[in-house]
Amino acid sequence: MEFFRFVRMMISLLVLFASMKTKKEISTILRTVEAHYPDIKTELHYETPFQLLVAVILSAQTTDKQVNKTTIALFHCVHEAKDVSKLTLKELENTVRSVNFYRNKAKFIVGCAEKLVREFDGIIPNDLKILQTFPGVGIKTAKVVLSVLYDAPYVGVDTHVHRVMNRIGIVKTKTPEETDRKLDKLLTHEQKMFVHHPLVLFGRYHCTARKPKCSSCPVREWCDYPDKITLE
Ligand code: SF4
Repeated sequence: MEFFRFVRMMISLLVLFASMKTKKEISTILRTVEAHYPDIKTELHYETPFQLLVAVILSAQTTDKQVNKTTIALFHCVHEAKDVSKLTLKELENTVRSVNFYRNKAKFIVGCAEKLVREFDGIIPNDLKILQTFPGVGIKTAKVVLSVLYDAPYVGVDTHVHRVMNRIGIVKTKTPEETDRKLDKLLTHEQKMFVHHPLVLFGRYHCTARKPKCSSCPVREWCDYPDKITLE
């Protein structure tokens, strides 16, 4: 019994190692994806750093398109953190009520604005740990904001990035949080600088959850996704 368990374990390890991508393959895959979506930092509309933070908070469980529709009215009166105090919580909730979880998100926006004004003179700190101490700002939100605002070397792992990385076989993980930790160790500083937005857009428009466009995929030859054959 012990022997068979050992053999099974060795076989799984061999399969795992055989399917792991080399550094060169990872580099080629990421550069290929980037080439398809050059010079795009985010699809969220904003004019000031604070507006970007607000838009990213609103985008949790909501499409960027919906957020952009919602923020037209909001950003008309809110440019900087100090402007949030001109609105009551009820007014803010009403302005963002078309996005999911708008009540919580409105509270987060108020909390972030107060903290920014009180402790940071209205300027968003370029520090991953500090930014995560803001209300409603988790690791993904913080990484997206810092990567867009300050070109910081962070990959904000959302469901798109998690799905694409697993399908291709760059990671084998169960949750976005696990993918985030793996990518943190696996990718180079330079790769983290450029790959976040191309990966998000690739997952959003090409390697989609339900119908990935495998037959026209630029990274098909390196992809481990078993269904890519049947999706021709
Ligand atoms: S081959 Fe298909 S599953 Fe693999 S990355 Fe391309 S679109 Fe996604």
